[in-house]
Amino acid sequence: MRIRKPWSKIRNAYGRSRPGQDRNIRKDADKTMLFLSRLVAAVFAAMLVYEVWFLTVRREDTINNSYNARLDSFARQVVRGRITTNDGTVLAETVIGADGSETRTYPYGALFAHAVGYSTMGRTGLENLAHFYLLSSHGNPVEHMFRELTGEKNIGDTVVTTFDLALQQTACDALGDHRGAVVVMEPSTGKVLAMVSKPGFDPNTVSLDWDTLVSPDNASAQLLNRAAQGLYPPGSIFKTVILLEYIREHPDDYGDFRFTCDGSYEAEGYTIRCYHGNVHGTQDLKQAFANSCNGAFAYIGSCLDAEKLAATAQELLFNSDMPVALPYTESSFSMEKDADLWERLQTSIGQGKTQITPLHGALLAAAAANGGVLMKPCFIDHIENAGGDRIRSFQPSVYGSLMRPEEAAVLAGMMRAVVEEGTASALQNDRYTAAGKTGSAEFEGGRDTHAWFIGFAPVTDPQLAVSVIVEEGGSGGAAAVPVAAKLFETYFSRALAIR
Ligand SMILES: [Zn+2]
Repeated sequence: MRIRKPWSKIRNAYGRSRPGQDRNIRKDADKTMLFLSRLVAAVFAAMLVYEVWFLTVRREDTINNSYNARLDSFARQVVRGRITTNDGTVLAETVIGADGSETRTYPYGALFAHAVGYSTMGRTGLENLAHFYLLSSHGNPVEHMFRELTGEKNIGDTVVTTFDLALQQTACDALGDHRGAVVVMEPSTGKVLAMVSKPGFDPNTVSLDWDTLVSPDNASAQLLNRAAQGLYPPGSIFKTVILLEYIREHPDDYGDFRFTCDGSYEAEGYTIRCYHGNVHGTQDLKQAFANSCNGAFAYIGSCLDAEKLAATAQELLFNSDMPVALPYTESSFSMEKDADLWERLQTSIGQGKTQITPLHGALLAAAAANGGVLMKPCFIDHIENAGGDRIRSFQPSVYGSLMRPEEAAVLAGMMRAVVEEGTASALQNDRYTAAGKTGSAEFEGGRDTHAWFIGFAPVTDPQLAVSVIVEEGGSGGAAAVPVAAKLFETYFSRALAIR
């Protein structure tokens, strides 16, 4: 009988072993090593993916989050970069005093108050949107390292915006002392060339003026960016939506539309009057749109399918998110399918409960000008390091199609008629062709109407889309169209001079 010693078992398992066992153990060890090395590789790859994701996606969000402690550390290492117009004119920069103090200055003061914003009492406008880039620094690496070693701050990158100084100045001057807003865009790229909101404020002294600016007694609401956040009744610019819906419901016979206007439209005891009691006579669809005949459009509105109209309004970004990186207010269209006739009539001439922002008006004009395709509005053209080398460019991107190309073509043709034979005839000239829609929106009994114009130019190959509101300016044709005319004049006279 063979007696097995306990230690021999152990030795067989872990010490000397038989030749076959030896190979198996090595195989097991190899497998374990392989598993471990794959695990390490997987963990490393995951870390790498996370790092890349963080650097490209989350880092920007994290740094932009004002509650994040990283923010302070970035600001301690980097002097906030410049913000410039599209041609490099400085709109915001940090000036370092002899004692090392830093002062954020805005050479154009109120002119870019809402567009560029401020960074001293929280952050708004481009100061907020571009915060990450302004606190990033891509200077010469050697100089960078030297500055870090000596404890000197690096200079943040420069944010080159899409803003055009001449157009911004023209918009501001043309609004004069009126409250209101202007947005100017390039339909084919979405570049926002001007964004003005009045009244403005001086971002250089915003912290000193803060108590007055936010006081409940301050009725001017200067801090509100009316361009993107101001909600207004659309008045007759909403006829673009009604027109589009009518064409959709009558694709084959909208050309046969006729309405005889005697100055008002009456139905079931309700009366809708044309602006200033105008009598338009017999109108086809194009004439009714060009002359902004309330009677014709009230009649059209009473015949439309309310559910389909609501769907079209939503497609045109009412009650919807807009592809806008700056804070904005959603426009609202709230007419229910069982709304009574009075609300349907009011809605069809842009009164009632519908509200829209000037920026949204610009997007509608830009989409109509661009074959129905809306480009995402963009505010930053590119980023440069402090030495002027371009380090990142932003390409135009498509948001989506708001209407079919053939619908956009019909709408653009009707908008052209508004200039050729209708309420925006002041835009007729021999230097460029313009198209658009005026509006005169009532908002409170006894007060003058808000004046609207949305439009674009030139008609073929549009280069500018504009949206103008002049609060209590009167009629769109008399008060908003001249603002658009000055913008087109500034832009096209310069284009001709360059040629
Ligand atoms: Zn009429």
